Order: sequence, then structure tokens, then C-alpha cells
Amino acid sequence: MSYDKFFIDGHWVAPSTDACLAVINPATEEVIAEVAAGGPQDVDLAVSAARRAFADWRRTSGAERAGYLRAIARAIEARAGELAAISSRNNGKPLFEAEIDIGDAIATYDYYAGLAEQLDERQNVPVVLAAEGFESRTRLEPAGVVGLIVPWNFPFVTTAWKVAPALAAGCTIVLKPSEVTPLVELQMGEIAQQVGLPAGVLNIVNGSGPDVGAPLTNHPGIDKVSFTGSNRVGETVMQSAAKQIQSVSLELGGKSPMLVFEDADLDGAVEWILGGIFYNAGQMCSATSRLLVQERIAPQLLERLKSASEAITLGDSFDTNTQMGPLTSAAQYQTVQAYIERGRAEGLQLLTGGNRAAGFDRGYFIEPTIFVDVPTDSALWREEIFGPVLCVRTFTDEAEAIRLANDNDFGLAAGIITADGQRAQRVSEALDAGHIWINSLQVVFPETSWGGFKRSGIGRELGPWGLSAYLEVKHITRPLD
Ligand code: NAD
Repeated sequence: MSYDKFFIDGHWVAPSTDACLAVINPATEEVIAEVAAGGPQDVDLAVSAARRAFADWRRTSGAERAGYLRAIARAIEARAGELAAISSRNNGKPLFEAEIDIGDAIATYDYYAGLAEQLDERQNVPVVLAAEGFESRTRLEPAGVVGLIVPWNFPFVTTAWKVAPALAAGCTIVLKPSEVTPLVELQMGEIAQQVGLPAGVLNIVNGSGPDVGAPLTNHPGIDKVSFTGSNRVGETVMQSAAKQIQSVSLELGGKSPMLVFEDADLDGAVEWILGGIFYNAGQMCSATSRLLVQERIAPQLLERLKSASEAITLGDSFDTNTQMGPLTSAAQYQTVQAYIERGRAEGLQLLTGGNRAAGFDRGYFIEPTIFVDVPTDSALWREEIFGPVLCVRTFTDEAEAIRLANDNDFGLAAGIITADGQRAQRVSEALDAGHIWINSLQVVFPETSWGGFKRSGIGRELGPWGLSAYLEVKHITRPLD
């Protein structure tokens, strides 16, 4: 495995330029690797390899592709500890969180192996239009050569959510990892070689968004783009897709609400609220970063949240006491600090946090931070911060809670905490969000969908919807004999 090469056409290939990316450990700010940074020529090479490979790969059966997917899952499993360590060091997340990521990726490859097998049974199923005297057979065919672009917060998971269904569908791939966290995805090249994935089916090119991401989305040899990242870049990805009338899936930002009703189990509420905003140092598209609390319980709940947040242990990913790591990059650290400063400038009231974490000379550590009574027109209430910053407001009744929760441009996720099952059902039906958790942490399963309403994106990953995103539907119609 080589950090100074790209994985193209089944080999580790020297890049077209000698440009490099420094990869940083965010807990120490030390450079931990130099990774080759590509450009349009490398993208060209990778797209050509994927196009050549598509001719045979598209003709493999679902069962054959399932074999490769299961082999990938087993290869990841065999190296789970090493992959989690690479991910932790590069991302800053505590090791136990990185282990969850690797487990999630394994489950995703296994799940799509099952769906790939089912695809064989779903081919050529006839629709008989007896009255009209016709029969039409349905074929589900791969979308083609796909460009997959991922961010840095859950790199191995986001990659699995795209690579697994794309392979299951029979697509060939050019993957662009985030320039911030490329190390763990590069391991997928080695795993592809190890399981004997045919050359060109999976290609990996590292580099910046402008140098590699943009040429990939603009490439005429790409049939579909699946992008996970910010709304700012999502817009440009959609613009390039528009020029080519190309299929595009977008998994974008969020500003998700957590609604806590007065009958809530407060111990559970504290755990689920903190998990929803401080897991992965709050760098989650689905972070429940807007907390709505019913007035009567607000004083007690806020007191508990304050002491529980202040008890969170920050530290290096490999320290077993660590509950929250640093922000993943200097840029993200600055973004989050700027939002906190803006909150102060707006005169918002801090319940806790708001500073660089004490005791760290180096590393992008920020205290778990909670602002209360945040006005709905504050940037902190409306915009995605993508860090450990929770904004709180109170509400009086269910109708107001729903109104406040839905009053946002995003619609990715939501949490509801209540002892009343009927209310939980009623409120979840009223919320504009792609995934809603009731009295729970944010558990994610390959079987359930992922994606958002409104500006949180277009399309769904995971489940059968994740596979459909990489399939074209064809009907073959003829008169009945
Ligand atoms: P980003 O948009 O800056 O970058 C994402 C990827 O796009 C990176 O690989 C980057 O190199 C690439 N890119 C940048 N410019 C590009 C261009 N012009 N053309 C093509 N590709 C380009 O996002 P980020 O900072 O890496 O990630 C954080 C964002 O991702 C947050 O907004 C978060 O909500 C979102 N996110 C969404 C989900 C989801 O499932 N909805 C999951 C994780 C992260």
C-alpha cells in the first residue's frame, strides 16, 4: 500500500504531478503522512479504467458480486483493529467510535451482498398487460461508471454506504476521499487487491475538491455522481450534473432538532441529547444541534446537561478515558470558534463551554458548548456549525414544538424524547426529517434509509433505496403470443 500513489486499474499508479497533501493528527497537529494529490489527468486515467472494467463487471451476476462484497467485509473484519486505529489517528475520534465505524462498514458490505443476490431474482420479472395484449419484462441494470465523493467526518462509513451498493448494482467506481482524511479509504485499494476484485472496478484518486472532485463531477465518462458533503459544494456538484443531465445523489448538511417533552425520562434524555451533539465532537450531519425543551422541565434538564457536559473527558483518541476528541481539522476548529464568537457577539447566554479546552497545548480541542434561549433568527440556531455546540430553546406545547422544529432549511434527522408513545408517533409524522429517533441514541442500520428532506439533500442511501440509486430500470415490451 502506498500513500504516494493512486489505486487505478488494479494497481498502485504514480500520480501525474508531484503534488502532496499533508495529513494531520488533529490531537497533536503533527503531520502523520504525505499523500499524493492528483489532478484532472489522474481522474481521466481512473475514469478510463472504470469504463473498460464496466464492460465485463456489468455482466457479472448479482451472486458473483455478492461474493466479492462478502470477501471485502471479511477482509475489513480481519483488519478491523488496524483500520480503526488509522481512522482514529487521522480523524481524532476516540478509538471506540472508530471501531463502531468499522463495524458499520462491515455490516453495510454484508447487507448489500444480500441485496446483490436478490437482484438476480428481480431480473426479467414479467408484467403482463393482458387487456392490452402485451407483456413487459423489467430489467434492473447498473447506472454505469460512478463518481463517489466523500467528506471527512465518518470517512470509512460514508465510503461503504456508496461503494457497497454501487458494486452490488454492477457499477464501476472512481472514489475521491476527503483530502483531510484519506488514509483509511486508501486501504480499500489494498482490500480490493486482496479479494481479487477485477482491475478497474474500484479506483481511488486523492486530492483537493477543485483538483480532483470538480474534474470528476465534470467528466463526460461519469454516468452518476454520489456526493456527501457541504451544501456549498453540493450546489456546484449539482450544477455540473445539470450540464450533462447526469444522475446525482446528494447527502448534505443538517441542523436537526431534538424535542424533549415534560414526561421524558430525564436520565435517558441527558444521554441521548449529549450523544446527539457531542459524539464525533459534534461533526455529524445528523447532529441534533437544536434542543427544544418543554418549559416546565427546562430548569432541571439544563442543570443536568450542564454538569454532564462538564464531566466529558476530552483527550487523545488512543487514551481509553477519552469521551470526546478534537475537531478533525484546523479549518473546522476555526469555523466552530467563529460561530462561538458570533454567539457571544449576539449576546447569547452560555450555559457551559465556549472555549478552547483547558490542558491542551496542541490539538483542535473545543469544550462541549451549550447556548440557551437562542433566538430563532440567530445564525447559531439556523446554520450548521458542525462541532460540539448545542443551541437550546423552550416550548410550551406540542404544536409549538413541531413548528419550531420544522422552521429550518434542513431536514435530515430529529430526536423525540417522551414517555407517551402516541405523541411520539404523532410528532414523528409531523416532522420534516429523513430519520427520526424516539428515546434513543442515533442508531443506524444498513436496512434503514439515510438522507434528508429539504436542503439536506436528494435521494437516500442505505436500504433498498441505496441500491436503487445505482440502478437504471429498463422495460422490454412485446405483444403476447
Ligand atoms: P465539503 O463539501 O467541503 O467536502 C466534501 C467532499 O467534496 C470532499 O471530498 C471535498 O474534497 C470535495 N469537494 C470540494 N470541492 C469540490 C468541488 N468543487 N467539486 C467536487 N468535489 C469537491 O464537506 P466536508 O467539510 O468534507 O464535510 C462536512 C459536510 O458534509 C457537512 O456539511 C456535513 O453535514 C456533510 N455531511 C453530510 C452527510 C449526510 O449523510 N447527509 C454525512 C456526512 C457529512
